[in-house]
Amino acid sequence: MGNILIVEDDSMNMELARDVLESSGYQVCGVDSAAEALQVLKEALPDLILMDIQLPGLDGLELTRTLKQDSRKKDIIVVAMTAHAMKGDRERILEAGCSGYIAKPIDTRELCREVARHLPPPERPDNLSQD
Ligand code: MN
Repeated sequence: MGNILIVEDDSMNMELARDVLESSGYQVCGVDSAAEALQVLKEALPDLILMDIQLPGLDGLELTRTLKQDSRKKDIIVVAMTAHAMKGDRERILEAGCSGYIAKPIDTRELCREVARHLPPPERPDNLSQD
C-alpha cells in the first residue's frame, strides 16, 4: 500500500506534488500524459492516481472514465487536480469516477489531506511526531 501515480503535464506541479507525497512516505511514479499513464498501468496498478484534468490529448476526466470501465483498474482511487473549480465542475469530476479533487494552484496541506483521506500514508517511525 502507498503507491501513487501522478498524471500531470506541468513539470513544476509534478515536482511539488511528488516532493510532498514522497515526504509523507508514499511511493510515487509520475507521467505527463494519459497515454503514458495507460502504459504504466499495464505493468503495475497504483493504489491511487493524482490526476490532472487539463492534459494534452486524452484529458484527465476521459482517462478516469476509461479506467472506471476496466474491471482491472476500476478500483484505483482517483483524486483530480483542476485549475477550473467552477460551478458544476465538482459534479462533473465526481460523475467521471473521481473520489475527490483539489484546486490548483496546489496547496500542499490540502493535497496531503485529500490524498490521506482516501489512502492513509504508510506508517513510518518519523511520522509519529506529526499531526
Ligand atoms: Mn495540465
